[in-house]
Amino acid sequence: MAKIKTYKIYTLGCKVNQYDSADLKKRLNKIGFEECKNSADLAIVNTCAVTKTAIRKNSRMFNLAKKENPKVKIIIMGCCPEIDDKISIKNQADLIWGVGNYRELIKRIKRFFPKLKEKNKLLNNIVSTDKSRYFLKIQDGCEQFCSYCIIPFTRGRLKSRKSQEVIKEVEFAVKNGFREIILSGIHLGLYGREKDFKEKINLTDLIKRLLEIKNSEKIRLSSIEVTEVTDELIKLMSENEKICKHLHIPLQNGSDKILKLMNRPYKRVDFQKKVTKLRKYMHDIALSTDVIVGFPGETEKDFQDTYNFIKKIKFSRLHVFPFSAHEKTKAFNFPNHLDASVIKERAKKLRELGKKLEKKYKQKFIGRDLAVIVESQNGAHYIGKTEYYFDVRFKDVDIVDFCGNDGGDLVRGKVVVRF
Ligand code: SF4
Repeated sequence: MAKIKTYKIYTLGCKVNQYDSADLKKRLNKIGFEECKNSADLAIVNTCAVTKTAIRKNSRMFNLAKKENPKVKIIIMGCCPEIDDKISIKNQADLIWGVGNYRELIKRIKRFFPKLKEKNKLLNNIVSTDKSRYFLKIQDGCEQFCSYCIIPFTRGRLKSRKSQEVIKEVEFAVKNGFREIILSGIHLGLYGREKDFKEKINLTDLIKRLLEIKNSEKIRLSSIEVTEVTDELIKLMSENEKICKHLHIPLQNGSDKILKLMNRPYKRVDFQKKVTKLRKYMHDIALSTDVIVGFPGETEKDFQDTYNFIKKIKFSRLHVFPFSAHEKTKAFNFPNHLDASVIKERAKKLRELGKKLEKKYKQKFIGRDLAVIVESQNGAHYIGKTEYYFDVRFKDVDIVDFCGNDGGDLVRGKVVVRF
């Protein structure tokens, strides 16, 4: 009997990349492959190009894939091949792919392995990146061209998935026991807004339809631009228990001068107003954000403005990215690049602030009843996420320890757990 062919996927980067890898897993399982830990027949490195550090990680991941799978056919895909013609690992791969068109990619893979046997279609129809939380890509592409960002070059124009296709996938995920659906996209807030999209639908309309799905429990939005948080969306979120009270809204900087240089379409006052409105209708809403530190031309005053603004907004979680742009972005050629040591120091200060704010936010919930969706088990403990996007660890249904980067300082609260 012919030996079953095996594969391993190495994924770097964002939730959309993770979804794409999960989508490929589904397709590979369907054509007769089995996933394995090492010595695979096929290895796929799904790359990220968002920063220079990310690009360096791609090579490391590629070398690891070769080491773990010595007799492998190896494919490089994702954002990096879309923009970088010179990546050194390219001529060591058996196939170079970019983003999307995975049907065609599968055809090419089949040519490497002509004796594969297709499996049951239904069993492998689920695109899962997690055990209880289902990441669902509903949109790809971005046309904003923020001056530091390579994504519009790698992911191309706005592309939304048909609503019926999204609804069917959610129905299937719910039937298969997924408790939380996380709607993700590169520019999620512009779902359905490209000129050539055939349906008249926006993100809020789509969520309304998803809420009607029988037995669906929680819906979360992965990341949304502040300008796309509409009154209609705020109303729907505040009135519907199924929608997680959490939004990840990238701020990127707290200085209007830097926001303008970044080509971000808002000022800090707009951001502040939106946050006030969100908190008016959802008092405890979790608001997480991304911030880039050390952008070219960022003075000490600009940095202080950012620091103070973040403190004022009281984000529930902060992701700090030291500036490092790709050569193809506008910001790469901007004057007044900062010294690496200055960037490092500023990043450190912001991360410390982020930890303090996160801890303060979580402390609000001490003693309160919260529903937790269980994600994993570690010995006698279960780990899960609340709708407010922090992890909790618990032993039984009444006691919970907050997890996360609060310096190991655990606090206690009451929860109600659903298994
Ligand atoms: S909105 Fe800006 S940061 Fe986000 S993907 Fe588009 S260009 Fe990049």
